[in-house]
Amino acid sequence: MDLFEYQGKQYFARYGIPVSAGGVADTVDEAVAQAEAAGYPVVVKAQVQVGGRGKAGGIKLAANADEVREHAGNILGMDIKGHVVHRLWVEHASDIAKEYYASFTLDRAAKKYLAMVSAKGGVEIEAVAEEDPDAIARMHIDPSVGFTAADAARLVEEAGLDAEAHDGAVDILQKLYTCYVEGDADLVEINPLILTPEGQVHALDAKVTLEDNAAFRHPEWDDFRDIDEFDERERLARSKGLQYVGLDGFVGIIANGAGLAMSTCDVVNQVGGKPANFLDIGGGANAEVMANALEVINSDANVRAIFINIFGGITRGEEVANGIKSALGRVEIKAPMVIRLDGTNAEEGREILKTVESDKVISSPTMLDAARKAVELAGGAA
Ligand code: GDP
Ligand code: MN
Repeated sequence: MDLFEYQGKQYFARYGIPVSAGGVADTVDEAVAQAEAAGYPVVVKAQVQVGGRGKAGGIKLAANADEVREHAGNILGMDIKGHVVHRLWVEHASDIAKEYYASFTLDRAAKKYLAMVSAKGGVEIEAVAEEDPDAIARMHIDPSVGFTAADAARLVEEAGLDAEAHDGAVDILQKLYTCYVEGDADLVEINPLILTPEGQVHALDAKVTLEDNAAFRHPEWDDFRDIDEFDERERLARSKGLQYVGLDGFVGIIANGAGLAMSTCDVVNQVGGKPANFLDIGGGANAEVMANALEVINSDANVRAIFINIFGGITRGEEVANGIKSALGRVEIKAPMVIRLDGTNAEEGREILKTVESDKVISSPTMLDAARKAVELAGGAA
C-alpha cells in the first residue's frame, strides 16, 4: 500500500523523524484554518500519489490567508498526471539551505536492503542516477546484521553531505531504518531531506510503501485505508476479505486461484469480451465466500454477465456446486451467469447445478465455451 505524503509524514513522526508542523485540508476554509494553526509562511501541497507535484504546480508557498485561499482553490480539483487532487497538506514553510535525498528499499536480486543517500536531492532520483550516478552513495544492508550509526555516518560522508548536516542526517537515517524495518515498509524515501540555514535537518517530503503482507501486525494501518483513492467495488471486496481488482469491462469474473482468475480474464478478452474485474475466491468456494463474491459483482453497474470459473482441487465439485446453489438462494443476481465447473468430482457438481439452471443460469463444461456464452449473454463483443 502506498501512502500519501501526509500519511507518510505521520508514519515518520511515529519513529521520531522530524517533519514540519501541519495538517490536512479538503476545502479552502480548512486549508486556511490549518495555515493559521501551522503559522505563516506555509506550503500548500497537493496530496496525490505521484512525484513531481512541485513542477506541476501542486505545491505553493503562501504568506497569508489570502494566498492560502488562492492556492488551495487552484490546487483542489487540479489534475496532476491523471490524479485529481481531493486533499491538501498545509505545513509551516521551511527555509532551505540544501536539499538532499535518503531512502531505504529492498534489493530483491541482492536479497538485501539498499540504502541510498545523495547530496543532490529535490530532483527526481532517477534523473540523478542517470546523469550523475556517482552522486548517489549506496549501501547494502544484511537484515540479520542491521544498520549501525557507523554505517549511517559512512553513507553520509560518502554522499558528501555538508558538515553541518552530518549529525542530523546520521540520526535521521537510523530512525528511517527503524521505520523501514519495524514499520514493515518496502520503501521509505525522503526527497528532499533538507538542511535549514540554522543547521537543522528534516524531512520535507515522504514517500512510504507498506508491505501488505505485514498488515496483520498493524491494525493501525486501517486508518491509512480510509481514503478516497479506492474504487467503491474494491472497498466492498476488501471489507469482505476478497482478492479483487476492479477493471473497466462488462463481464464479472469469479474464479478460484489467482492463476485461473488471470486465465479467465485472458479468455474473456480472447473471445471479444472485457473483464469487469479480477476476483480470486481462493480454495474455499463455500456458500459464504460465493455469496460475498456475487454481492461485490452485483455492486458493479457495468456488469452485463457473470462468469464463474471453478476448478475443483481439494475442494470437491459437489461442495462448490452446493456453495453456488446456496449463494444463489441468498443473493439475487442482476446479470445472467455462466458457470464452468471442472476438476475433482465435476460430474457430481454439475448434477447439482442442474437444479438451479435457467435461462439466466447456464452451465458449460469448458472454459472457452463458457467465456463465449458469457460474452453472448452480455450482448456481444466490446
Ligand atoms: P514533489 O515535487 O512531489 O516531490 O514534492 P516535494 O514535497 O518534494 O516538494 C517539491 C519542492 O518544493 C521541494 O524540492 C522544495 O524545493 C519545494 N518545497 C517544498 N516544501 C517547501 C518549504 O517548506 N519551503 C520551501 N522554500 N520550499 C519547499
Ligand atoms: Mn519530493
